[in-house]
This record gives sequence, C-alpha cells and structure tokens, in this order.
Amino acid sequence: MTLEKNKVVNIENKSSDVVWHQASVSHEQRKAASGHFSAVLWFTGLSGSGKSTIANAVDKMLHDLGCRTYVLDGDNVRHGLNGDLSFSNLDRIENIRRIGEVSKLFVDAGLLVSTAFISPFIQDRESVRALLKSHQFIEIYIDTPIEVCEQRDPKGLYKKARAGEIGHFTGIDSTYEQPLKPELCVKTAEYSVEACALQVVNYLKDNGYLNIK
Ligand code: ADP
Repeated sequence: MTLEKNKVVNIENKSSDVVWHQASVSHEQRKAASGHFSAVLWFTGLSGSGKSTIANAVDKMLHDLGCRTYVLDGDNVRHGLNGDLSFSNLDRIENIRRIGEVSKLFVDAGLLVSTAFISPFIQDRESVRALLKSHQFIEIYIDTPIEVCEQRDPKGLYKKARAGEIGHFTGIDSTYEQPLKPELCVKTAEYSVEACALQVVNYLKDNGYLNIK
C-alpha cells in the first residue's frame, strides 16, 4: 500500500483537540547538557553520491569529539517509519516531510542529527528548513557527477534502473533539483571520505556549533 492510493497527508486536518504539551525539560537545558548546539546536517545528492558514507564519517568524528549525535539514513528509515511509501513523487514528498518532523524532534532533544536522503526536490528541503530556526538547518550538497555515482553503483541500483527494472530512479527518469544556496558543497569525486567529512566538521567548528560557552 502506498499513500498515493489514499491521499496526501494534510497536517491541517489535525484535530483541534490536539494541544501541544509543554515539556518539563526545556530545549535550552538539553542543549546545555549536550555542550553544543543542535542542528540537522541535511545531506542531499544523487544515489551513490556518498551521503551515507560522509554522514557516517562525520557522525563518527563528532561522536569522538564527545557530541550527542545520530544518523537517519534513507534506506534504514524506509524499512520502518516510511516502509509504507513508494518512490512516486507524492510518496517522496511525504518521505521527506516525515524525516523533517523526526529531525526536528532530534534537534529539540539537543542532538546533531545527520540525515542521508536523496531528497530531490528543492521545495521539500526548504519545507524542512522552514520547520527549524535558521542556524538549525545545514544543507550539505554531496555534489558528485552522475557518471561517478553510476560507476560506483554501490547497491547495483543504476544497473537495474538502466535495465528498466526500477522506475522513478533519480538522475535517470526522475528529477534531482540541485540546491541553489547550500551551506556546504562537498565534492566526493575530488576528495577522500576523510577530507570530505573534515570539511563538514570544520564548518561546525568555524561557525561555533561545537561549543556553547
Ligand atoms: P548514497 O548514500 O549517496 O547513496 P553511499 O554513501 O551509499 O551513497 O555510497 C557511496 C559509495 O561511494 C560508497 O561505496 C563509498 O565507499 C564510495 N566512495 C568513494 N569515494 C568516496 C568519497 N570521497 N566520499 C564518499 N563516498 C565515496
């Protein structure tokens, strides 16, 4: 079952009886306990561009620095929370909407959360940005040419897409809209995994994310 067969989720339909419950531990207190600012590191790019690889390398570096972190990975989330969604455009939109909401909860909890989703549409990424304060959304474009992604083909998906076994494949028969003004642009075809991850960690350091004192 996919959502498309039913309806697009409209959060404006939520009941007026649903009231926000004020938490007894504030975001400021959670941030203070973490010892650093919280934010979403939103990795976007083609399949095989290196989102998961770089997100996990960054996560390891931040964890080793004593930060509270987590990674939300596209493939993993599609096993559970978003297991009911297909790769149609409407379901892709709903996929990103849910991840945005979950990321917001992680940010509220005081974490640096990395998300690794193709997230092909500008409007969807901007909708997530709009859920958060400006410094809490860091868009990281994993800018890898499609020829390199296809050559890597870590999951054999390009091969299947070219053979017509997978439809709606981003970069082949589904659009990828490049970020217009990402906070960071990472070139994995030119630099090593470690250098790319360091670029992200250094951005956080240089912009004061890692120390709230
Ligand atoms: P995505 O999450 O974007 O689909 P993955 O991280 O799953 O991409 O796959 C990227 C593949 O490219 C991995 O097999 C990784 O080892 C390889 N790779 C080679 N060089 C790099 C690099 N500099 N940065 C990131 N990935 C790289």
